[in-house]
Amino acid sequence: MTIRKSATIAVRTGIESDTQYHAVVPPIYLSTNYGFPAFGEVPTYDYTRSGNPNRGLLEQALSELECGEDAIVTNCGTSAINLWISTFLTPQEWIIAPHDCYGGTYRLLNSRAKKGDFKVLFIDQSDPQALTDALALNPKLLLIETPSNPLVRVVDIAHICQQTKSVGTLVAVDNTFLTPIYQRPLTLGADFVIHSTTKYLNGHSDVIGGVIISKTSQHAQELAWWGNCLGSTGTPFDSYMTLRGLRTLAARMRVHEESAQHILAYLQSQPLVATIYHPSLTSHPGHAIAKKQQTGFGSMLSFDFAGSFDQLKAFVGHLALFSLAESLGGVESLVCHPASMTHRAMGEEALAKAGVSEQLLRLSVGLEDVADLIADLDQAFKQVQESC
Ligand SMILES: *Cc1c(COP(=O)(O)O)cnc(C)c1O
Repeated sequence: MTIRKSATIAVRTGIESDTQYHAVVPPIYLSTNYGFPAFGEVPTYDYTRSGNPNRGLLEQALSELECGEDAIVTNCGTSAINLWISTFLTPQEWIIAPHDCYGGTYRLLNSRAKKGDFKVLFIDQSDPQALTDALALNPKLLLIETPSNPLVRVVDIAHICQQTKSVGTLVAVDNTFLTPIYQRPLTLGADFVIHSTTKYLNGHSDVIGGVIISKTSQHAQELAWWGNCLGSTGTPFDSYMTLRGLRTLAARMRVHEESAQHILAYLQSQPLVATIYHPSLTSHPGHAIAKKQQTGFGSMLSFDFAGSFDQLKAFVGHLALFSLAESLGGVESLVCHPASMTHRAMGEEALAKAGVSEQLLRLSVGLEDVADLIADLDQAFKQVQESC
């Protein structure tokens, strides 16, 4: 098959595939079960936990977008990570994970390791010595999250994958923040890509979902087997919705990115903004790596609020176009206080280690008109300044 560009894959997957009525958009199949054509003849789909036409199309689209062999769509991003570790780890084996990973990923790995399911080591993957020491443990798995949540730190995927090759460690990259539009980890040496499709891929904050894409069909088959065995798979309705959201991914990512650039320029002129975290800034420690491995910088950004904690709370309260909510990557703009929201499960010590302070605010730049977004930030900053 010819290699198609991302926007085309996202828009065209499944279009005109209906053979019954020639519906242009593939219909939704909610049926839990499928008839056997004859005694002993197993159909393509028999029971929806193991497979369904809508999930199949979404898996096809995501796997082609990430340049993978096959994908398994799960009921959330967390269950995608859980399926990955359940499939490949045994109790004596190590997984290496970033010390500043998504809060829920940290909780999952930490809690299951405490139960004795496997062993986990959280490290700063940009520290070469920490990485060398970790690989000396002969880990079975290594999880990368780049850019990371919430500080958008960047690590060098190709470099880490080169080092893990000699040890035989399998590498997965959580690509939730950039999507295949801006980063394709399998082409940089990773073995798996994981997404919370809840975020940019669905893009409308109305579906919880996840996916693992494998580079080899062997790994994809093992994941599909365990996905069915454990019951991790996504529903037909969620798959339908996610494919519908995915169709506009390339166009959405472009506007998200453009607006984020305008907002960054605005924030740089604000006295109540201290350090800004975004890989597009030349001051960002991961800027050079980001330029090498990403084709865009993404629209997640964080900054340290320079006023008091009370002023930070007032600022957030004055915002009208940034909803105070968790999650990210939807059409609507969001503001989040990671220490008390998305990352509170990590506990104080782990938060400090990961560099997430009480003063940190994270923005998910949505698709509202960017002039309105900037005006909203501006009135909120002004109100806080006037009350000083
Ligand atoms: C949200 C998120 C997850 C978890 O996904 P859910 O769909 O909420 O289970 C994992 N990784 C990252 C980077 C995320 O942002």
